[in-house]
This record gives sequence, structure tokens and C-alpha cells, in this order.
Amino acid sequence: MIEPLDISHVQLRDRPLIVCDIDEVVLEFISPFTAFLRANNHDLLPRSFRLHGNIVSLLDGSEPGDDAIAAFQESFFGSQDLWQTPAERALETLEALSEDADVVFLTAMPPRHQTVRRTLLDRLGFAFPMIATEEPKGPVVAQLHGNRTLPVVFLDDIQRNLLSVREHVPDCFLVTMMANADFRAFAPPPAEGIVSANDWDDAARLIRKHIGRMA
Ligand SMILES: [Mg+2]
Repeated sequence: MIEPLDISHVQLRDRPLIVCDIDEVVLEFISPFTAFLRANNHDLLPRSFRLHGNIVSLLDGSEPGDDAIAAFQESFFGSQDLWQTPAERALETLEALSEDADVVFLTAMPPRHQTVRRTLLDRLGFAFPMIATEEPKGPVVAQLHGNRTLPVVFLDDIQRNLLSVREHVPDCFLVTMMANADFRAFAPPPAEGIVSANDWDDAARLIRKHIGRMA
């Protein structure tokens, strides 16, 4: 049994809840990570829906091993405030939705990088609470939502995370979306119970329809 996370910094009001992934949903990840790799003599090629196997050396075309890729990710997240930018219309859409719902960020980034991410989010104007954990997302959303009967929504670009939430919070409205169009083209089709949004305007329309129907 995994210990519940300390999420005491998240205070929910008596209204719908929107739990939102960050990388590729609120902040661009693929494009800035590609720029970071190019600054380090590598590139990320959109050949399939994964990082491993698609990172290549610009010097000799070789593919770095798992340890080297992990080192790149560690270095990128440590300096993410120099690279990452908001996904198109994420800020204004979340601000509008937050008039009717609580918004909480749930990111699978290692918690050791949460200070630099918090600083970046604040600088960009995303003043919503954040939980950073490498634990499966389903139990975290279940812990947040508890026994509430209010609508709950979860957005993410990774099907594994959406399926985890589907398992642990069966009444959650699940939305898949991804900022990067090159890699989105390789995304697996959404599983049963998951709806796909093309962009933030589309996501807002789906979320409002769900919240309105549940209200
Ligand atoms: Mg993501």
C-alpha cells in the first residue's frame, strides 16, 4: 500500500474539479526538449510515440542509451525555465474555466524539480496548485476527489495516465490532448471512455458540456 501523498497545499472549493497534466498539455515539452537536444548535438525525430529510439546524435547518427537519455531529461527538467513555453491558449482557457471549477496541476515530473517548475508556472501566470509525483496518477486523483459527487475532469497526453485515472476514479471525465502535432499523429487511439481534444478551445467545449450536464 502506497502512502497517501501530502497534498495539503491543495484546498478544493465546493465546485467541479479539473486535474490537468503539464507537459504537452499546459506547457510545450516536445518542441523545447528538441531545441535542448539540438543545443547538445542531438535531435528528436518524430518517428513513433516515444522518446527512446527517436533521439539521435547530430554528430554521427548514433542513438544514445537509456542512461544518456535519462541524463538529458534530468538536465532539461533542471533548466526547464529556460526552455519551456505555454501551450497555445492554455492560460486563457484555464483562467476562464477556473471561474467555475478548481484547477489542479498533476505532473509526473520528479518532485526534485518542482521548485523550478513552480517558478516557471508563476512567471507565466499559471497560479494553480501543482502536485509533482512519479506515482501512478489514478490514486492521486482519487485522493484529491475523495467521496465528492461533484464533476471531476482529467486531462493528459499519455494514455497510461488516463487509464490509471479511469480505473481509480470511474466517474472522472477523461480528455486526451497533446500540443505537439508531429508526435500527436503517432498517438494511440483513445481507449474506451476517453475523449480526444484537438486543442484547448476544443477541450474547454468538452469540459463545459460535461460540467453543465453534471451540474
Ligand atoms: Mg504530459
